[in-house]
Amino acid sequence: MEELVKLWPEILESLKDELNIQDITYDTFLKPLQIYSIEGKDLYILNPDNSNTVSLNLVKSRYSEALMIKIAEITGKEYNLNFITQNDIKNDSVPESTIPAEAPAFTKNSNYINSNLNPKYTFETFVIGENNRFAQNASLAVAETSGEAYNPLYIHGGPGLGKTHLMHAIGNYIFHENSDKQVLYVTSEEFTNEVIDAIRNSRSNASLMTNLREKYRSVDVLMIDDIQFIIGKEQTQDEFFHTFNYLHDAGKQIIITSDRPPKELETLNMRFRTRFEMGLMVEITLPNYETRMAILRKKLEEYNANENKNIVFDDEILHYIASNIHTSVREIEGALKKLIAYSTLQKTEITMEIAERELQNIISPEKPRSITPQLIIEIVADHYGISVDQMISKTRSANIVRPRQIAMFLCRQMVDSPLDAIGSLLGGRDHTTIIHGTKKIQAEYDENNDFRDEIDSIKKKINSN
Ligand code: ADP
Ligand code: MG
Repeated sequence: MEELVKLWPEILESLKDELNIQDITYDTFLKPLQIYSIEGKDLYILNPDNSNTVSLNLVKSRYSEALMIKIAEITGKEYNLNFITQNDIKNDSVPESTIPAEAPAFTKNSNYINSNLNPKYTFETFVIGENNRFAQNASLAVAETSGEAYNPLYIHGGPGLGKTHLMHAIGNYIFHENSDKQVLYVTSEEFTNEVIDAIRNSRSNASLMTNLREKYRSVDVLMIDDIQFIIGKEQTQDEFFHTFNYLHDAGKQIIITSDRPPKELETLNMRFRTRFEMGLMVEITLPNYETRMAILRKKLEEYNANENKNIVFDDEILHYIASNIHTSVREIEGALKKLIAYSTLQKTEITMEIAERELQNIISPEKPRSITPQLIIEIVADHYGISVDQMISKTRSANIVRPRQIAMFLCRQMVDSPLDAIGSLLGGRDHTTIIHGTKKIQAEYDENNDFRDEIDSIKKKINSN
């Protein structure tokens, strides 16, 4: 897919040369064509500039076959070509695009750049569940009516549950509707630093404070994230309250997030508690299993679209993450990212075994890796400075045979593995070899104190892994 997209300009140019297509014809009909998506052998080609079918019909009848051959020639793959218009996309009659969308043009606007908004956090990428439905609805309502109703909007809930995401979504929505709107997102820390800076340097430069006020009071929408960090820092808090009042009186929208409701912001004075509460307060709670699964699917889909990849995880793997991480969407996302990284780096599919191992720090940090014959073999090999490959090889040299026999012994003793299982793990050795090895080590273990200490130290390594 990626390859085809990269080669696409070359394919078109080459077709132009070969068929001697005139510039005007080429520029009008062929050049605008874009790869939209691929599904199996079906390639969807879009003319984004044109929703009427005249141009595409012409391309279809004149160039379709030559184009198909050209694609096969350059990419080595044959496709059925489907020519589509924006209308087909709107009607959902073609598969969803697998090409990453370019960042929308409006995000390059200087107004947008100054807003500190993150274009990734939109309503489209926000999964709605029972835990956040009300918060999402309220946010969308605020985005639609900005300043007119529900002012301020106060979103609260635990860490990693989507407060910041929703806040940006409101900003992005407003900006998308009207790019002249001045939206400003700021974390409480940034706000605090700016205020402290202005105060500290106000003696040498009196205009700093004026500038700061000017900046915050000229916006249409002000978003302050994690307000709990401001409350209690007196000067910052005062500065914020003046700004709040100014904007509120001017009918400008204010959006606040916090890890707790206003009544639990201990040092917040009564006057402001009432002001915070007079708008709309919404809470985001913990997502349930279905929502966690839906978020995982959405994030994977987003990743594939953005990176132009096609990573697929079994439901079993997603289920494993969703049923073990309950408290934070950020952590759920972190687990998914970890597996994506693993699968990309190792160029391998993620199995349950890999997922369990890779996520053990996130999912059960205090639980040691469960003791298996594999683990024993790995640790014994490591202890004696040889490789697992040598352990399972046919080599009979003493420095390998001995660790191999120790591994057999420990597999019997620590996990009571069946002889067959040990034999096949250790390169297909038969019963008698395993019994012989185990007995030999057992005898030595019983008789020789130093050797027993050595084995016990290996056991300790295994147990504490
Ligand atoms: P908070 O501000 O509440 O600590 P964030 O908004 O930073 O949490 O969310 C943490 C991560 O989880 C972000 O990457 C965000 O996109 C994601 N996230 C949270 N809730 C959702 C949701 N409902 N749908 C999609 N992504 C979500
Ligand atoms: Mg946040």
